Amino acid sequence: MKKIVIIGSNHAGLAAINVIVNSGIEAELVVFDKNSNLSYLGCGTSLFVGKQVESINNLFYTSKDAYETKSSKIHINTEINKIDFIEKVVYAENQEKVEIKTEYDELILATGANPIELNLEGRDLKNIHTVKIFQDCQVVDQLLEDEAIQNIVVIGAGAIGIEMAEAVKRRGKSVDLIEKKATCMSNYFDPWFSEDMDACLMDNDIHLHYSEEVLAFQGEEFVEQVVTNKAVYQADLVLIAIGFQPNTGLGKNKIRLSEQGAFKVNLKQETNLPGVYAIGDCATIYSNALEKDTYIPRATNAVRSGMIAGSTISGIDLESTGTQGTTGISIFGYNMVATGLNLSEAKKARFDVLYTEFEDLQKPIFMEENHSVKVRIVYDKNTRRILGAQLASYHDISMGIHFFSLAIEEKVTIDKLKLTDIFFLPHFNQPYNYITMAALGAK
Ligand SMILES: Cc1cc2nc3c(=O)[nH]c(=O)nc-3n(C[C@H](O)[C@H](O)[C@H](O)COP(=O)(O)OP(=O)(O)OC[C@H]3O[C@@H](n4cnc5c(N)ncnc54)[C@H](O)[C@@H]3O)c2cc1C
Repeated sequence: MKKIVIIGSNHAGLAAINVIVNSGIEAELVVFDKNSNLSYLGCGTSLFVGKQVESINNLFYTSKDAYETKSSKIHINTEINKIDFIEKVVYAENQEKVEIKTEYDELILATGANPIELNLEGRDLKNIHTVKIFQDCQVVDQLLEDEAIQNIVVIGAGAIGIEMAEAVKRRGKSVDLIEKKATCMSNYFDPWFSEDMDACLMDNDIHLHYSEEVLAFQGEEFVEQVVTNKAVYQADLVLIAIGFQPNTGLGKNKIRLSEQGAFKVNLKQETNLPGVYAIGDCATIYSNALEKDTYIPRATNAVRSGMIAGSTISGIDLESTGTQGTTGISIFGYNMVATGLNLSEAKKARFDVLYTEFEDLQKPIFMEENHSVKVRIVYDKNTRRILGAQLASYHDISMGIHFFSLAIEEKVTIDKLKLTDIFFLPHFNQPYNYITMAALGAK
């Protein structure tokens, strides 16, 4: 019976386990995770901290007990600290400092990503936290219970930064949001969109400090101030949310890495070492918009890549169809969704790029509950291929972005979209749909 070892049992690892167990192949499955829990939904952190989710238990969808079967064993609180890829052995240490040596025939690396740190003067002061795992959520939630903690500084206006800013505001605290770039979420949204989100944040009394760089933290034992290149902000608690980097230390000098430092994998999640797979936030993924491998750490990509590695190991023929990096955000009821490349990312990737856009009411004017909606479609001037799309509204327009995701994956041109059949019903949209109108406006 072959022995499969999986390192990391969060979203990617669990997806692989599901497929392997359900495939019914004869295999012994041994899983290691250094954390005490599995299946924590990081996306729920801000919702729990903002008291929009009642029970923290609802942020988990499974447990170690639910996953252990006759042929699978999960070791939690057990960190793998070395892999011998020649002898095919992983070395772990559990909480009792006992070393566990386990041989494998096939190995799946699902070690995820680590938050990018701000290693600045004063970083070791208390009450400065990154936001990633369940324990971070618990610590931040507890600190916010303290009446003495009133001034919160959030660093980074990406998705997690603005979600945490909203959450902390919902707890009645004062929030300063500091961002190096000129708008929020600039990797996904053009200023036409992100400026609306910035207005929404300001309307909800979040103090924005953009184009500003953090230089140091000050205080005695606990953080008291955040120093930037422009000002000094009072801080009882600092949340750092400036992105993630792949956790690939275990494969150092053995497994090929991408320019972003992720394990390089093919469409079957195979690394350069035979029998060694990498999935989720520690691995590369193929971008259909860029037409090359890239790095997009996201739960959706983690689950899909886990399913692929699990299938390959189980003898099921399945290949990745790549990603568009489709993403969404909802802050104080304002919704923005995006897929593929925004204008600046497309230009950075050296596409000769054009865009078309349209803004309208979601439904006919006679409908009572109605909101403005805006759409921008980015496309290649020469091939006419759709490269990206962005949508925003107080209405729930989220499902519309999947249409564009598939269009990018299938290399649909902007011209093809002009007469695409889109239904009309006043409860949902207008006869001259804003997507059709945007496409018709393409030069
Ligand atoms: C606050 C927050 C909000 C998010 N919101 C969204 C969202 O709305 N939508 C979305 O798509 N994505 C979201 N994400 C991203 C998503 O959580 C990640 O993409 C996803 O968790 C990746 O899953 P993974 O299994 O690859 O890695 P991880 O979840 O990082 O899991 C890796 C596992 O490996 C274990 N591990 C690492 N090294 C070792 C070792 N040496 N030995 C043993 N175990 C090890 C870790 O303990 C961990 O359990 C969010 C992330 C955060 C932090």
